[in-house]
Amino acid sequence: MLREFIAELDATGDLVRIRQPVSRHLEAAGLLKALDGRPVLLERIKESAYPVVGNLFSSRALVGRALGCAPDALVGRLAQAIDHPVAPPLVESGPCQEVVQTEPDLDALPILFNCAQDGGPYIASAVVFAQDPQYGRNLSFHRLMVLDERRLAIRIVPRHLHAFLERAGGELDVAVCIGLPIHVLLAAATSVEIGVDELGLAQALAPVPTVRCQTVELAVPAEAEWVLEGHISTRELVAEGPFVDLTETYDLVRQQPVLTVQRITHRHDAIYQALLPGANEHKLLMGLPREPTIWRAVNAVCPCTGVHLTQGGGSWLHAVVGIRKQQETDGRAAIMAAFQGHRSLKHVVVVDDDIDVHDLTAVEWAIATRFQAARDLVVLPDEIGSSLDPSAEPVTRRTAKMGLDATAPLGQARAGYTRVRWPEVDVTAFFR
Ligand code: MN
Repeated sequence: MLREFIAELDATGDLVRIRQPVSRHLEAAGLLKALDGRPVLLERIKESAYPVVGNLFSSRALVGRALGCAPDALVGRLAQAIDHPVAPPLVESGPCQEVVQTEPDLDALPILFNCAQDGGPYIASAVVFAQDPQYGRNLSFHRLMVLDERRLAIRIVPRHLHAFLERAGGELDVAVCIGLPIHVLLAAATSVEIGVDELGLAQALAPVPTVRCQTVELAVPAEAEWVLEGHISTRELVAEGPFVDLTETYDLVRQQPVLTVQRITHRHDAIYQALLPGANEHKLLMGLPREPTIWRAVNAVCPCTGVHLTQGGGSWLHAVVGIRKQQETDGRAAIMAAFQGHRSLKHVVVVDDDIDVHDLTAVEWAIATRFQAARDLVVLPDEIGSSLDPSAEPVTRRTAKMGLDATAPLGQARAGYTRVRWPEVDVTAFFR
């Protein structure tokens, strides 16, 4: 669980503890950004009684450590969980309800105000739980902009929660959970079909006991730090934004529904989990769950040996795909499959399995030595793009896409493309 992981990081000296008071207005975000890649505990927040933890899962190594597997094994673990979800157990009581606030006050929480032009303080680590009579439970991430002590503007893209809300006539009970372990966060960030309970994916990765909420008909992780019980209404729409997204650029301001909180439950000494938009943790949570879907799509056309949504591409727009090539057309086929496996993907490089997809210098070497633009470049001039890409068409978000087949030819020609084997020497023998 989250607390065990924080304690473990602390014990091994990997948690940066900041004891001096920090303001949740800009200062906390600046600190998290400056320390990106390193887990941080802000013990004292000037405007709140609760501490803030951030950057907990801000590298592949940290995510792997939290899940007890090597970073390279993450894509396989996730794919396995997606294919074999397990129903989470329901228990009688849980620490997320140790303290009950019947008069909620969001202002008491250390919700960060991240960047100067932001529309307000934002909760970005929140997973929204909802229930539909036919489809069952749904988990999804939604950024929440604080409007006042009880109301939040909720950004809802037209996916599952949007469908639930429409089916419920524009009035939907929800529970917002903050302070969750990595397996729940990753599950909530994963795109599965409507009707699949994302919490089942989490349970397939690690146990996640649930408890019933008090004012809404929902079950949520018993170990959550915070649960905000409330409902979403589309009767009133409000301006949501500006907000910095994955690409570290401002997203558009849109009219969005209001989420009103009617009850807050939390742990004694609750910790507020911050997620800094545009920082590594945000990128990883967005990108990691897409790697298995690309993996699966590519595997349908040829053996896939690795997928990496790179940080420079916001862990969203750029992928490196490794294949074990069996036909000359496999490179191109893998490019098209990768675009199918992740609809927002804009640029993809396909490499042979002798290239480590996580080693960007090796990927560049493959482009330098195996790729000919006139022959190996695939350009799709007019596709549906990501709303996050400021270079896409302003309203329609149409975009061009590009795939680079940086695989070497098969057969005898391949010999000339293989990196030489250097002599093996025991270096330490020469320093004795
Ligand atoms: Mn869903």
